[in-house]
This record gives sequence, structure tokens and C-alpha cells, in this order.
Amino acid sequence: MAQHDSVSAEAGAILGELGIDLSLLRADGDGTISARSPLTGEITARLATETRDTVNAKIERAHRAFLEWRLLPAPRRGELVRLLGEELRAHKDALGRLVTLEAGKIGSEGLGEVQEMIDICDFAVGLSRQLYGLTIATERPSHRMMESWHPLGVVGIISAFNFPVAVWCWNAALALVCGDPVLWKPSEKTPLTAIAVQALVERAIARFGADAPEGLAQLLIGGREIGEALVDHPKVALLSATGSTAMGRAVAPRLATRFARQILELGGNNAAIVAPSADLDLALRGVAFAAMGTAGQRCTTLRRLFVHESVHDAFVARLKAAYASVKVGDPREGDTLVGPLIDRAAFEGMQAALAEARAAGGVVSGGERVEVAGEAAFYVRPALVDIPQSAGQPDVVRRETFAPILYVMRYRELSDAIAQQNDVGAGLSSSIFTLNMREAELFVSAQGSDCGIANINIGPSGAEIGGAFGGEKETGGGRESGSDSWRAYMRRATNTVNYGTSLPLAQGVVFEV
Ligand code: NAD
Repeated sequence: MAQHDSVSAEAGAILGELGIDLSLLRADGDGTISARSPLTGEITARLATETRDTVNAKIERAHRAFLEWRLLPAPRRGELVRLLGEELRAHKDALGRLVTLEAGKIGSEGLGEVQEMIDICDFAVGLSRQLYGLTIATERPSHRMMESWHPLGVVGIISAFNFPVAVWCWNAALALVCGDPVLWKPSEKTPLTAIAVQALVERAIARFGADAPEGLAQLLIGGREIGEALVDHPKVALLSATGSTAMGRAVAPRLATRFARQILELGGNNAAIVAPSADLDLALRGVAFAAMGTAGQRCTTLRRLFVHESVHDAFVARLKAAYASVKVGDPREGDTLVGPLIDRAAFEGMQAALAEARAAGGVVSGGERVEVAGEAAFYVRPALVDIPQSAGQPDVVRRETFAPILYVMRYRELSDAIAQQNDVGAGLSSSIFTLNMREAELFVSAQGSDCGIANINIGPSGAEIGGAFGGEKETGGGRESGSDSWRAYMRRATNTVNYGTSLPLAQGVVFEV
């Protein structure tokens, strides 16, 4: 904590570039959180947290903002998101570096995350002129039936450490054009990127002018209990929560109690199939990035690989060589491909999973700790685990361990590989590498992958914002970002209009008075 009471010198320098007044950051309060940079394990921020009372006050403020914001025409609301996109473009570099410092992503991924925010802003601006409903044929003469989409209310956003800023933007850009204020509870592990983004959105709001009500976009620093305050409050109309399946299991019943809308974006246990006809060069690159990228800490990270027995040995040998050659190290260095795990708990979780895999008959290569920046930083060599056919899919393979472990299994029949791929709790992302058209089409058909994302000849990770993002089963069923995900942020009203002089009833009902 050299530079400032609450922020480390390095973090303070980046926040300074972003024009953030450090003296406004408070370290004292009823509660505090400490965040560490995974790069070194050093504390980067010590910040005061919200209390239930301050959260409730912010929710009330957001609700008052809703009553005004919903009245503004949607294209005008889009103008605010356009300004936010401009702020993000202007500060992409510094914000990307802050993502690297707080979440440990390599430079291109830190910048890529900010680019994703810019992209969704562009998408949302266009969307602000396209929030359309249907007109529907009615059975009654001189009637018209249509649907209208209206702003929904306050949107609560809970986000995870591994996409510390993009997830907010996927939700906020859409929510704001849809007429909804946003309240954001970021991960307690990445508060500074959230503070930076909040400053940018406040700048965009200031440029937008008096049409933006006070309380339109607010930030809630704190841990799980602050998230719970959002979950339970009746004036939070939609809760969009991204994180582990365990978090979703805690949150979903509470939301159900008050019939709140929810978007749950939870854990994944993603698979890829390498078929006999696969372009193995392409598959190698696809598998390597999806499994090792972001040090295995993406919800869409490839965790299970099914390789056809005819190509298994040759492919796995090449994969092992790729695993041994990637540079693990400080993500600020240009040639690093694998940065650190987020913290000690992630490292211990990885080691426990590898021990369990060994006990189940798995043969592990890699997985050991790599010394980069001392005892408090946790860098690891990504692990490949050969699972013998006799073991099936042991428990450890069936659950998500948020670290770079790839379980490799061989298969003979594609139908078996697809069945095994689907035979886990999570249902987020999947892919097949094949040049066989029948196999490719089968994989994306009703009898194929049961995931929200099913790809052909690219790995399961690295989605674009244009598509709807999310997964089935224990991944929570939510969809956000592109396609028609915007509908979750609005309420639909079906309107029937009688422009005639009689009152025919539906279904031929007669009721003469
Ligand atoms: P986490 O579940 O520990 O925390 C996520 C967020 O939820 C944090 O902000 C945390 O404070 C909050 N939280 C935790 N318990 C809560 C509760 N009971 N009530 C309210 N809020 C609560 O997850 P993490 O370790 O930060 O992130 C990794 C996990 O997130 C992985 O499982 C990963 O697959 C998942 N993830 C999913 C997606 C997706 O889109 N499906 C995207 C990113 C991450």
C-alpha cells in the first residue's frame, strides 16, 4: 500500500491514467475487503464495503431512476451506451492492463475483454432502434393483436472474477437501452476494474446530460452478503448472476421465493471431440487455446477431450509437446501464454483434483507449480490427464475444477462420445473437430450436444457477442449478450385492440347482457 491508503502503487498508477481520484476510494468502514493481484500475490486494494442499509438505499435510488429512464425513447437511451463505448475505446489500454493486474489475464486477453465491452456497446446502440414485438393474426374481426416490450425495472448484476468487466457490460449495455437501471456487485477479488468501469460509465452519463436520472448505474463493493441483499430485494426485477454453480444453487431458490426474473450464468464442464477426419493441425490449436488459455479459468475452458482411437496416440503426443512448450509466466510479458491462477485456493483445488484423478487411474503430465513471483503467487504448468477407458468418467472428471486440467479420453463410436459429453451436470459449451459432414451435423442436431454452445472446428471457448451466450442444466439456463437475449431485460405485454363497433368474444363465447 505504498501510494495510497487503499490501493497499491501499481494499481494506483493505472487508476490515475484512467483519471480516477484515488482520494475518493475509502478503506475504512463497517466492513472491508482486500484484493490481491494474482501476478504477485500482493494486496492491490483494501476497500470499504457496502452494508445492507447502503445497498437498500442504492436499490431505492435505482428504482426512482427506473421511473424516469423508462420514459426516454429507446434510441435516446442508446446514445448513452454509445458514449460509454467511446469512453471504453479511449481507455481500452489502461483498463486492459488493470484486468491483467487484477485477474491475471495475458495482455491480449485483458485488452480482448475490453474490446468485448466495446462490441456489446455497438450492438446495444443498434438494438436501441430494434426492440420490436410481433403483430399476430386475431380470430376476431376489426381487432388487432400485438405485443409490446416495455422496460422491466432495476437489474442487479453479480459477476465473477474471471471476466471482471465484460460480464457487466454484456448486461448493462442491454439493460440500459431496454430502459433498466443497473446495480453491479462485482467479484470481491476484482474490485478495482469495477471501480474503473464505474468511473467511465459515470463520465458517459455526465456527457449524456440531464436526461439521465441519478442512480442509473451504481456499484456495490462487497462480498457474498452484498450479493444476497440484491438477490432478496423486491425492487430488483431481474438478477443476472455469473459465477459458480454453487452460487447459483444458493441464489436460485431465493429468487424463486419472490418470483424474480433471473439470468444464471454458472459453471461449465466443456468438452471437445476429435474425430478421425479432423484437421489435426487446426484441432491442436483449437484444443490448446481452449484448454490452457486464461490458465483454464474461463467458464468455457475445455476440460474434457474425447479423441477417436484411430488418431488418439498421434494427437495426444502432439498435444503433450504443446503443453510442455507453452510459456507460463508473468502475463505482462509478451510471450507468456499462461498466467497465474487467481489464488491459493485455486491452486489447492487443482492439486486436489489431480490427486483424485490419479487415484481413479489417471496418468497426469504437468500440473506442477512454476516459480515466477514468489510464494504468494500461484503459477502452474497446465495438466493433461490420460483417463483409462476402464475408468469411464470418474467423479473428478464430471465436475468443474477451475484450473488448467484437461482430461483426455478415447472413443470408438461417435454416439458414445456424444453421450459421455452430455453425461455431466453442466451444459455450457462444446465442440467437434471433424471434416465429415454427417458427424458435424449430427453434433449440432437434436441428438447431438446438449450445451448452449455447440461449435464445429473451433474450440468451446472464445464466444463472440453477436450470439446468445449461456448454457443448459447446471449452467443455469440463462442467455445474455447477443441474438434476442435483450428480451430478458424487458417485459412483454400482449395487446388486443378492438377498432370495430361490436364486441365478439374469443373462442365463440356468448355473453349477452
Ligand atoms: P463465485 O461463485 O465464487 O462468485 C461469483 C460471484 O457471486 C461473486 O461476485 C460472489 O461474491 C458472488 N456470490 C457468491 N455466493 C453468493 C451468494 N450466495 N449470493 C449472492 N452472491 C454470491 O465464482 P468465481 O470463483 O468468482 O468465478 C468462477 C466461476 O464462475 C466458475 O464456476 C465459472 O465457470 C463461472 N463463470 C461462469 C460464466 C458463465 O457465463 N456461465 C462466466 C464466468 C464465470
